[in-house]
Amino acid sequence: MMSISENYKKITDVIPAHLKIVAIGKTKTSEDILSLYECGHRVFGETRVQELLPKYEKLPEDIKWQMVGHLQRNKVKYIAPFVDMIQSVDSLKLLNVINKEGLKNNRLINCLFQMHIAEEETKFGMTKDEIFEILESDDFRQMKNISVKGVMGMATFTDNEKQIRKEFKTLKTIFDQVKEKYFRSDDGFSEISMGMSSDYEIAIEEGATMVRIGTALFGERQY
Ligand SMILES: *Cc1c(COP(=O)(O)O)cnc(C)c1O
Repeated sequence: MMSISENYKKITDVIPAHLKIVAIGKTKTSEDILSLYECGHRVFGETRVQELLPKYEKLPEDIKWQMVGHLQRNKVKYIAPFVDMIQSVDSLKLLNVINKEGLKNNRLINCLFQMHIAEEETKFGMTKDEIFEILESDDFRQMKNISVKGVMGMATFTDNEKQIRKEFKTLKTIFDQVKEKYFRSDDGFSEISMGMSSDYEIAIEEGATMVRIGTALFGERQY
């Protein structure tokens, strides 16, 4: 088995340097995360608040923590003081709470809109219409403590490469449409977070700016 630092080297050797890698440490220990931190990596993601909090407390302060899993509104308050980005914004209600908690903490919280691109019903995320609806709402216009940086999506869990590629293309197209219509003069709206261990190469070909990699860095997860 390769070590975490060997995995990291292998991946950073092939991924273009401008791409951001979010290392997904869910189910992995703080020690695992620290081994990657010691390679110089700083951006880490988690899917559950109850797993993120103890890691945040234990690990170095300069880690940029990203929330990438479905987030319940009543849990936003725990991560709002420190989270670098919430990639899993999937409703206006959630966005309202993030804004409110951002205000309380006197912070601007970076967000991505999670889009539902997979065939599986079980995956979270919004439709294009829902995203447009949020952006046109009065609520949204009044939010001062969030900064929308782009979109995030997860492809169907399949080995059908064509299917995966089609879903990534959809996400890229929606990103372009949202950018054109609402963020044309906002350079900050620039991120397309797509691609995981099994499909990040396809995602990069289809325009990802950010990939979220767990297994290929830390090894298989044991549940
Ligand atoms: C688990 C997870 C990942 C990473 O998955 P791997 O296949 O282990 O690379 C990426 N994004 C989200 C939202 C996840 O839940």
